[in-house]
Amino acid sequence: MSENNSSNFIKNIIINDLENKKHETIITRFPPEPNGYLHIGHAKSICLNFGLAKEFNGKVNLRFDDTNPLKEDIEYVNSIKEDVEWLGFKWDNLFFASDYFDIMYEKAVLLIKKGLAYVCELTQEQMKEYRGSLTEPGKESPYRNRSIEENLDLFEKMKNGQFKDGEKVLRAKIDMSSPNINLRDPIIYRISHSVHHNTKDKWCIYPMYSFAHPLEDAIEGITHSICTLEFEDQRPLYDWVVRECEMESIPRQIEFARLNITNTVMSKRKLKQLVDEGITDGWDDPRMPTISGFRRRGYTPEAIRKFCSEIGVAKSDSIVDSQMLEFFVREDLQQKAPLAMAVLDPIKLVITNYDENKTEMLEIENNAKDETKGKRLVSFSRELYIEREDFMENPINKYFRLFPGNEVRLKGAYFVKCTDVVKDENNNIVEIHCTYDPETKSGSGFTGRKVKSTIHWVDAKNCIPCEFRLYEPLILDSEDNENKNFLEQINENSVSVLKGYIEKTQMENAKPSDKFQFVRNGFFCIDTKDSSDDNLVFNRIVPLKSSFKL
Ligand code: ATP
Ligand code: MG
Repeated sequence: MSENNSSNFIKNIIINDLENKKHETIITRFPPEPNGYLHIGHAKSICLNFGLAKEFNGKVNLRFDDTNPLKEDIEYVNSIKEDVEWLGFKWDNLFFASDYFDIMYEKAVLLIKKGLAYVCELTQEQMKEYRGSLTEPGKESPYRNRSIEENLDLFEKMKNGQFKDGEKVLRAKIDMSSPNINLRDPIIYRISHSVHHNTKDKWCIYPMYSFAHPLEDAIEGITHSICTLEFEDQRPLYDWVVRECEMESIPRQIEFARLNITNTVMSKRKLKQLVDEGITDGWDDPRMPTISGFRRRGYTPEAIRKFCSEIGVAKSDSIVDSQMLEFFVREDLQQKAPLAMAVLDPIKLVITNYDENKTEMLEIENNAKDETKGKRLVSFSRELYIEREDFMENPINKYFRLFPGNEVRLKGAYFVKCTDVVKDENNNIVEIHCTYDPETKSGSGFTGRKVKSTIHWVDAKNCIPCEFRLYEPLILDSEDNENKNFLEQINENSVSVLKGYIEKTQMENAKPSDKFQFVRNGFFCIDTKDSSDDNLVFNRIVPLKSSFKL
């Protein structure tokens, strides 16, 4: 199935609207609040909004929903732009909701003039008490029937900074007994004497999200405003704002189920906590489910897009297995990442009958499944490193790798047979001694005898020391996820660091973010932050195999 080819209910709505000539062309938007870095849930929304615009030859806006000055920052604005582009999307327009503050203010004044908004002075607690509950209607505020003139005067004074934060709010006058609590005179403007990243100190009153968002959509001529399910109850208010503010263009809000993934927290607030408390190394820590974390880990935009497309668009909440995302990463890298030999947990192997002064360059393939990717020359000499786990002094049952007296193939090289081991004073093995058989060279057509195992290696004389970082989920799922603070679910072993070696050949032109498939150990990516010429650092992107089936 190709990307964005799957059918979904939103698509059907759009097809219908176009057929009925409700719109000539569609306009969607992706409206993040710049209060954190984007995560994989946002990727889902980005793929949906940008994907639909592309498919129907429409337009898509990237809009920063920056109506809350306290939490927003230009650092987030920049990271969001970078992430959307990295995912492979181009916006038609870039907007800031804060650029509409003048229009929003005028619309609030219009509501007051129509008798549909009033300045209220109830305290927060009183407001809560007056709001009622799902079973009881609310009570009308004593300030509800102020005259239009008085409201206009007070609202202007609010704007001019004559009141303190929280002293007054502007509320829509709708229906205190509505079964939908969102319609019980919601607050539409509040006072906040704070500096906004875009409008600086021009304003000390700010529109509430539920008032601002429908106006932003209408101002931009958005035809289909796609949001997550928790906004379903807000739709009547959304429609009320668009109608009563007499907006020309009428957007339609459509809700879909947000993406949830096992072992993953997906809320900017929680992710920010992980960063602020130093639990992770910033927003782009390779364990973070942020776009920047996945990028640093080595996930590709193609894999993320494919994942978002394959999980589909649902009308009810569900939870996706995190291994499904890994599956698409593996599938994509299988094509792209060249093979390299690296030893993560090294032990030295000495071929005692191999000439000390000799070095051979052996031809080894770049992709085990694709011959067109060609071969490279890898150096081989008397002393090598192999994985510690590829040797056992006292082999367990069915262990076919190296042990005293046993013969194995060194990948792309020769058969070697273990003769003895060298130990240190603590009885730890420090060297494995072998002999090799020159007749058994790979590609020579040798058929004399067979071995049951092939192991990988690097040439000790010609390799680069490096660091390998292996990851496990940052969050451990448990039965009662809901009742637990997610900080109690942090996996203490989410990263382990190994020191080993990698062949020189594949590293000749390697640069940060390059990806490789290490024989047996998985896909790895050169870290973009910590890796340097003196200290090569690899992140494991995904292991090679998983029990997960699509
Ligand atoms: P968070 O709770 O993580 O802060 P948010 O919804 O408040 O997320 P916004 O910046 O307001 O974050 O979101 C921008 C867009 O991304 C919205 O349209 C929102 O619906 C969508 N979005 C956010 N999280 C998800 C998710 N998990 N699945 C699908 N869409 C999401
Ligand atoms: Mg939000």
